[in-house]
Amino acid sequence: MRIALLALGDVDGSVMVELRDRVEGVFHCPVEIGEGFDDLASVHDLPRGQYLASKLLDSIAVRKVERDERVVGIVDVDLYAPGLSFVFGEADVLHGVAIVSLSRLRQEYYGLTPEENLFLERATKEIVHEVGHTLGLGHCANSRCVMHFSNGLADTDWKGVNFCFNCCPKMEFLL
Ligand SMILES: [Zn+2]
Ligand SMILES: [Zn+2]
Repeated sequence: MRIALLALGDVDGSVMVELRDRVEGVFHCPVEIGEGFDDLASVHDLPRGQYLASKLLDSIAVRKVERDERVVGIVDVDLYAPGLSFVFGEADVLHGVAIVSLSRLRQEYYGLTPEENLFLERATKEIVHEVGHTLGLGHCANSRCVMHFSNGLADTDWKGVNFCFNCCPKMEFLL
């Protein structure tokens, strides 16, 4: 398997490099920073001030070709899905693509002091979680497993970046 991370819209390049290295450390497969795109205007919902996750997923899905590749779009804008006020990320299992938003993962979003390492840790967990979905994994009951559903950042901070002993074999089988 190979993983490509794409910056969609304005995303800090040094953050992309950090995330690439951290995701590589979890999956032990090549992770590259692929060619993203800048213009998010077509998925911008002006009244909400947010971006529609499924539309962004579609725009990545049309570009992905390789079967053994997983593509994760990284955005630094707020995402939503119909019926939900926001989403941290979303995966398209059929096409092997996913999307992750960085905007609510920073302490400063909540008026707190910035913590760079915590932010990168949260983003890594979100990316690994969504890649897990593209590999066919569902949510895991183990609250320490990266596939545990995060209702909020407290759940994200409690869980680890790795797959638990139940999810791990399922994932390796799919690689
Ligand atoms: Zn999930
Ligand atoms: Zn698990």
